[in-house]
Amino acid sequence: MPDPQIVVVGGGVSGLSCAIRLQEFFPVRLLAHHLPPRTTSDTAAAFVYPYKVEPWERVQKWIMASIAEFKGQIQIKGSGVTMANLMDLFVEESPPPKWADLLEDFRKATPEELPDGFKCGYVLSVPKIETPLYMPYLLNRFQDNGGTVERCERPLELAEVCKPDTIVVNCTGIGARDFCKDENVYPIRGQVSSVGPTLSETIYVCEEPELSYIVPRSADCIIGGTAEVDNWDLEPDLETSMKIFHRCSKILKELNLRSEVRSHIVGLRPGRFEVRLEAEKVSENCTIVHNYGHGGAGFTLSWGCADEVCQLVQAAIT
Ligand SMILES: Cc1cc2nc3c(=O)[nH]c(=O)nc-3n(C[C@H](O)[C@H](O)[C@H](O)COP(=O)(O)OP(=O)(O)OC[C@H]3O[C@@H](n4cnc5c(N)ncnc54)[C@H](O)[C@@H]3O)c2cc1C
Repeated sequence: MPDPQIVVVGGGVSGLSCAIRLQEFFPVRLLAHHLPPRTTSDTAAAFVYPYKVEPWERVQKWIMASIAEFKGQIQIKGSGVTMANLMDLFVEESPPPKWADLLEDFRKATPEELPDGFKCGYVLSVPKIETPLYMPYLLNRFQDNGGTVERCERPLELAEVCKPDTIVVNCTGIGARDFCKDENVYPIRGQVSSVGPTLSETIYVCEEPELSYIVPRSADCIIGGTAEVDNWDLEPDLETSMKIFHRCSKILKELNLRSEVRSHIVGLRPGRFEVRLEAEKVSENCTIVHNYGHGGAGFTLSWGCADEVCQLVQAAIT
């Protein structure tokens, strides 16, 4: 293919990470219907945690590569990336989470550390990614390195971007359901609240009896959450917010009636039975590299996936 144009569709964490990786080798154009702060990625808190994502054999490799990259970003002022302790909580005695072995640092929580109602917990050291800082950081980094960003007034059709001598990188998240007509993509609705001020140092997560998590950030604290399959509703539900507050206040006593609830936020995780990361030759001189379906782990996998996208683009050119 002679000097193909590289077009990334999607301005969430997947699209921006791929665009940044690709621009180390090629000029890159990024097109997106929504840009930060209006993508699903902006609604995440976020931290490394492989939630609702498959296939495990590939996910492990992507997590490792992403953690390595995040550790480098900790040094960059304003990136919003730090290391944090995460306490994974269980109502019954439980083995360590299967991904704990991928981390440099994890241990069993002492009984004194456990909030009431939990019999077991593990303390993991993970990258925390503050999206209000990290998403603009990614966007600026791409543009400062010469990348072109175009916001489109409406969602694009695949045929509009699959032009001759073009490689399209499809990072459309939940939008992939329409963009490339993939009916395997479905929403896993997540609702969270921003409360202030910053409470605790530790991230708390439990998946049972109900999904609950607390993510302290520099300017607020995110409490969650929900994981509602096939629910497309982007409006926050106040009753759900009250239930989240109640559950999280049992885990963290500092969360109480004096806490200031600032906003309620909803995002649609791009669910799929597994991440779709593969190249598809759509015509003699146009290839599309798909990278979507990251469920609740788009940040967790972002750099590992971007590396693989880059390899597939290079293979398509040679
Ligand atoms: C409440 C919540 C909490 C979460 N917490 C975490 C966490 O702690 N850790 C973690 O790793 N993950 C977390 N996630 C999951 C993570 O946010 C997603 O996996 C990730 O945002 C997906 O990123 P993406 O770039 O693939 O998609 P998106 O962020 O949705 O970006 C898709 C982009 O494609 C564009 N687009 C779509 N269709 C078209 C089209 N036809 N034409 C042009 N542009 C199009 C959109 O406008 C957008 O720019 C959370 C999600 C939610 C909702």
